[in-house]
Amino acid sequence: MSRTGTLYTVSAPSGAGKTSLVAALVESSPDLRVSVSHTTRAMRPGEQDGVNYHFVEEQTFLAMLERAEFLEHARVFGNLYGTSQLWVEEQLGSGTDVILEIDWQGAQQVKRLQPATRSIFILPPSRETLLQRLTGRGQDGQDIIDRRMAEAVEEMSHYVESDFLVVNDDFEQALAELKTIVSAHRLATAKQRESLAPLLQQLLS
Ligand code: 5GP
Repeated sequence: MSRTGTLYTVSAPSGAGKTSLVAALVESSPDLRVSVSHTTRAMRPGEQDGVNYHFVEEQTFLAMLERAEFLEHARVFGNLYGTSQLWVEEQLGSGTDVILEIDWQGAQQVKRLQPATRSIFILPPSRETLLQRLTGRGQDGQDIIDRRMAEAVEEMSHYVESDFLVVNDDFEQALAELKTIVSAHRLATAKQRESLAPLLQQLLS
C-alpha cells in the first residue's frame, strides 16, 4: 500500500518570513511540494506567473470558483486567493506531502474539510522586527504598510487555531523546527503503517 501525503497549512502575518522559510523547507525535503495559489492581486516586481502565483483576472477566478475548482479560497487585503483542489488531490494521492501557504481563513476551511491537515503558524520574534520587515521590503507605500501592520495583528490573533507554532527569529533555527515537524509526522504510526506495510506483514507473519 503506498503512502498518502500529508497536507500542511502554513499561516503567518505578512513580514514573518513565511515564504522564504517554506521555500527553503521544500528545497531540502524530498516528497514535499508547495501549492501555487491563484490570485487576482497584481504581480509584484520579481514575481513570475505560475511560480509565485497563477495571476488571474477576477472574472476568471470567479468562474473557477463557480466550477468548484478551489479547495479553499479567501479575500485577503481586497484580493482573491484560492488553492487548486485537483492539484492538491493529485499530489496527496501520489504520496507527496503538500504545503499550502494561506491565510487563517483558508486554513480554517481546509481543517474543516480535511481534519487530518496539520496547521503551522509562524510568528515574528517581536512587533518591532515585524514592522522593520514590513518596511524593509520597500515595495509598498506607507499606507499599505500601516494597513498590513493592522492586518498582521488580526492574522496573529488566530495562532490558537494552529497545531504548531514556530518563531522566526533565527532563520536556520526556524527552518530546523519546520523540518522536525514534517519528519515527525512522517514517522507517525498512521503514516508508517502505509509505507511499511510489506515489512510489517513480513515481521508479523
Ligand atoms: P501576498 O499577496 O502578500 O503574497 O499574500 C497575502 C496573504 O494571502 C498571505 O497571508 C498569504 O498567505 C495569503 N494567501 C496566499 N495564497 C492563498 C490562498 O491560496 N488561499 C488563502 N486563503 N490565502 C492565501
